[in-house]
Amino acid sequence: MIGKVILVGIGPGAKEHMSLRALKALEEAEVIIGYKTYLDLVKELIEGKEIISKSMKQEMERAKLAVEEAKKGKKVAVVSSGDPGIYAMGSAVFEYLMETGSEVDVEVVPGITAATAAAARLGAPLGNDFAVISLSDLLTPWEVIVKRVEEAVKGDFVLVLYNPKSKGRVKQIEKAAEIIMKYRGEETPVGIVKNAMRPGEELVITTLGEMLNYPIDMLTTVIVGNKETFIYKGKMITPRGYK
Ligand code: SAH
Repeated sequence: MIGKVILVGIGPGAKEHMSLRALKALEEAEVIIGYKTYLDLVKELIEGKEIISKSMKQEMERAKLAVEEAKKGKKVAVVSSGDPGIYAMGSAVFEYLMETGSEVDVEVVPGITAATAAAARLGAPLGNDFAVISLSDLLTPWEVIVKRVEEAVKGDFVLVLYNPKSKGRVKQIEKAAEIIMKYRGEETPVGIVKNAMRPGEELVITTLGEMLNYPIDMLTTVIVGNKETFIYKGKMITPRGYK
């Protein structure tokens, strides 16, 4: 029997924000692999299963484990928060399959990603073209990130910044704000959402000039408006069209 790896996006955390397919996939799986924090979010859905929780840094390791378990004929769910193809396990699993030429089935189950979870809380900030950029330079060189931020700002994309700041990585968001300020006014609306749609949710709508005065960390997504974005009754809105 050919085994299967199911890359399951569980969305921001609560069951009500998971797709029916994601719930079903967790139910079907015999082995569940994922980072402990994510597995805790779906604890009651995976009780009694074989659970392998590896720490964050070992992505390739987790991918290998998933594929090797599947090769034994098992159904293996690899759990990612949000969407499994967005800064998550999806690529690692396919890369490992390619490197090893392994024959297992793969299914990708999409999830609500941080960008849309945060946007939903803020109003409708993604109503026009937007660019999603991770400020983490662990896997992408910082020069590349800087260039992408600059080009996206020049193109007047709304910006969605993932991995904006961690304990050891504090300068990136400051530099990003500096670049954005070259092209957009200080009054540009900015939404900062921590723990969107999970316990501990915090929400701030502020401006480009003020954004660095608010706490930003690795559980936060930052959305910077384009030239048309406005605030109405406490919501951040990007119109569908340009006036
Ligand atoms: N696969 C995930 C993203 C992983 S990268 C997804 O699709 O959502 C990790 C980054 O995602 C965090 O640093 C943060 O910027 C963002 N993030 C993930 N979950 C979040 C949430 N509930 N609220 C706000 N930001 C979140």
